[in-house]
Amino acid sequence: MRKIFVCGNWKMNTDLEAALALAEGLKSASAEAADVEVGACPPFVYLKPVADALEGSDVVLGGQNMYFEPEGAFTGEISAKMLLDVGCTHVILGHSERRHKFGEPDGLINRKVKAALEAGLKVILCIGELLEEREAGRTEEVLRRQVTGCLDGVSADSMDSVVVAYEPVWAIGTGKTATPDQAQEAHEFVRALVAGMFDDGVAQKLRIQYGGSVKPENAFDLIGRKDVDGALVGGASLKSDAFAQIISEAVRATS
Ligand code: PEP
Repeated sequence: MRKIFVCGNWKMNTDLEAALALAEGLKSASAEAADVEVGACPPFVYLKPVADALEGSDVVLGGQNMYFEPEGAFTGEISAKMLLDVGCTHVILGHSERRHKFGEPDGLINRKVKAALEAGLKVILCIGELLEEREAGRTEEVLRRQVTGCLDGVSADSMDSVVVAYEPVWAIGTGKTATPDQAQEAHEFVRALVAGMFDDGVAQKLRIQYGGSVKPENAFDLIGRKDVDGALVGGASLKSDAFAQIISEAVRATS
């Protein structure tokens, strides 16, 4: 049985005060949701204070990105070791904003995935098609390219530390959500792909989150689908009440 994982991606939002307030909200929401894993990915500069605020809770903490080198002259970058050092257990890699606003290709994301896993971080690997790709009937081709490219060279054992987030780009921050059927179809496709790359055991254990305008009103229907194992939540994770409601909807979808 795959444990549902609901994680907030705060992107480049909050200030210290707001980050700490969100952390308090997360602690109480997760305390009432033992069967759901809850996580947050604040901006780098708030990771340590948020980690301190979350101490004693089950909430997991992640970075929103990292570089594949362990250290050195890479101005502006953050390593896996640094994320671990400030209390992270997870890192988001390949988010569509990294892919499309900062030009990150699959090959670079693959190097980051391998470096993160080697360092002992768990990876939330984001994949997803653009609107024009979906409209051209190319969704599966794009997902295949991203999954095979980003997981190239990853061992079956390391796949225990990978979560995939299917995030159709047209649904991120747009208020448009994939229907539960569209999400289920893509997740089923990704699981079959992973079974082909590794084996069925790895595919059945793999958690695949849905991301793209998840809110309290649609969380239950999405997470209730067979291959949807949680949500990566942007906008709604910045409001304590809305995120707590998404967590309760996830609990309801699992019971
Ligand atoms: C995201 O940033 O991963 C995301 C899904 O954002 P939103 O929930 O705002 O669409």
